[in-house]
Amino acid sequence: MITIDGSQGEGGGQILRSSLALSMLTGTPFRIEKIRAGRKKPGLLRQHLTAVQAATRVCQARVTGDEIGSTHVTFEPSEVRGGEYAFSIGTAGSTTLVLQTVLLPLLTAKAPSQIVLEGGTHNPHAPPFDFLDRAYLPLVNRMGPKVRATLERAGFFPAGGGRIVVEVKPAATLTGFELLERGVLKRRLAQATVSRLPVDIAERELRLVSKRLGWSDAELQTHEERTSPGPGNVVTLILEHEHVTEVFTGFGEVGRAAETVAADATIACERYVKSGAPAGEYLTDQIMLPLAAAGSGAFRATGLSSHARTHLDLIARFLPVPIRAEQEDTSDVRLIFGA
Ligand code: AMP
Repeated sequence: MITIDGSQGEGGGQILRSSLALSMLTGTPFRIEKIRAGRKKPGLLRQHLTAVQAATRVCQARVTGDEIGSTHVTFEPSEVRGGEYAFSIGTAGSTTLVLQTVLLPLLTAKAPSQIVLEGGTHNPHAPPFDFLDRAYLPLVNRMGPKVRATLERAGFFPAGGGRIVVEVKPAATLTGFELLERGVLKRRLAQATVSRLPVDIAERELRLVSKRLGWSDAELQTHEERTSPGPGNVVTLILEHEHVTEVFTGFGEVGRAAETVAADATIACERYVKSGAPAGEYLTDQIMLPLAAAGSGAFRATGLSSHARTHLDLIARFLPVPIRAEQEDTSDVRLIFGA
């Protein structure tokens, strides 16, 4: 059994979720200790517990330590089974992070899956639905399986209540890809979404986006979300290139000015535009997991965050695949899998 120190490197929920994903994929049991030791509320929160329970169901694992606040978990996976699953977080915890825990093994399961997830869909510090749908899944779909995600109801912090449905048509194996260039820019879109809040918040946000980035009116869109049970606000900037789509998000919060929310997204977008690499910060740490599972491929990243570095160390504990990170002249990094 592999022992993982949950406080190593970045030390957050990602080490737990990715350990679960890699354990299910490889059939390797593991024990994780000091889960989220450095965080304000250490141990398993609802979202992490739901991830453990979801993983347990998908591969009929034997598990200990699966309770709120627990700082250690042992997990012994059995066979991964595709099928119909429903996971409800019960709070505004991130549905996309729970999905990413179970998605990897289901991509190569013997049977297709339908996964229904309830909780938050646009959470700070997690991939928002639009990022999952437009940036992450198109790359996964390039690897053989076909995954389609539908946002049935948006869920914002703190009310939650969102619902996503994900259909997975698995492939026998994952095929790696090369993503070295963005290709030509095809479309830009700035969407400011409000749920149960005045629409002028979204209008102010788009004015700031237009002023800072110089995007035209046709590239700006307000969206009034009417299905969500609670108030919420996000600014989503989408850059669609020939070979990759990237998504940058600013999250509204009580007491944060609309202009600050929009500035978060524009700063991230400007940083990406300045660099030449196809994969931005978040896509980089997330896409390395399926590529490592494929065992081959390469992509260029705008840099390596502490999440990305921690992920590289963790992947090496479960998979024999060599991964090389080559620094380029700029801050860009070329990641090569299986070389
Ligand atoms: P952790 O902090 O360990 O729970 O991991 C958070 C995960 O969410 C990482 O994989 C990040 O790449 C991802 N993430 C955080 N913020 C964003 C964002 N704005 N867009 C996309 N992914 C995000």
